[in-house]
Amino acid sequence: MTIPRAITIDGPAGSGKSTLGAILATHLGFVYFDTGVMYRALTLAVIQHRVDPSDSVAVAALANQCHIGVHTPTHDDGRQYTVTLDGIDVTWDIRQQPVERLVSQVAAHPAVRQIMRAQQRAIGLAGDVVMVGRDIGSIVLPEAPLKIYLDVSIAERTRRRIIELTDRGEQIDDIALAESIRLRDERDRHVMHAAPDAVHINGDTQSPAQTVAEVLALVANIPVLHTH
Ligand code: C5P
Repeated sequence: MTIPRAITIDGPAGSGKSTLGAILATHLGFVYFDTGVMYRALTLAVIQHRVDPSDSVAVAALANQCHIGVHTPTHDDGRQYTVTLDGIDVTWDIRQQPVERLVSQVAAHPAVRQIMRAQQRAIGLAGDVVMVGRDIGSIVLPEAPLKIYLDVSIAERTRRRIIELTDRGEQIDDIALAESIRLRDERDRHVMHAAPDAVHINGDTQSPAQTVAEVLALVANIPVLHTH
């Protein structure tokens, strides 16, 4: 089995996967690939084409037809990457409420996951990549030499999100916020799998900065990640 030069990071929404992933990618000179954007872009396509999100055959057909691209940022507006759907920039559209509400339902269809996972696996096997998602270390790329699973409680994720939103001057209903995080966990329960050999990191007992330091120390001990 060839070992791809890749790191996988899985964990629930709001656990800090993307921040950690982007830092690691920069550190190693790897590409940062957030697999959630593929499910989000497909969900936007479902909405635009008025496909019934519960119709697995129609959603899978759309997954085969539409072209989702993830590129280095094309605008300097805070984005980590540019996402295109059939050539159109949808980077911010896939973060809006209509997509947010439907994405777990779209992502739950096994036929859809099969299509997405095959594309993700090809990207992972090509190497020099940090891949972030829910099932990457367990199913998409189990041969990755470093697999991280981020565990952070709903209470801690709610606390962090409140700080983020307050900093932006937004009004927050903290009970509703905790409930929306709990709901997303519940909807994603079936797609979330930690690899048996994943390194579990508990984000409740250490700060995001300590987590970064811990993972960088792990990376330093895996020679295959550094051989170019
Ligand atoms: O990571 P993010 O929150 O952007 O992912 C959006 C949704 O895509 C998740 O709530 C989940 O339903 C789905 N997803 C998935 N498998 C992945 C990544 C995301 O099912 N590897």
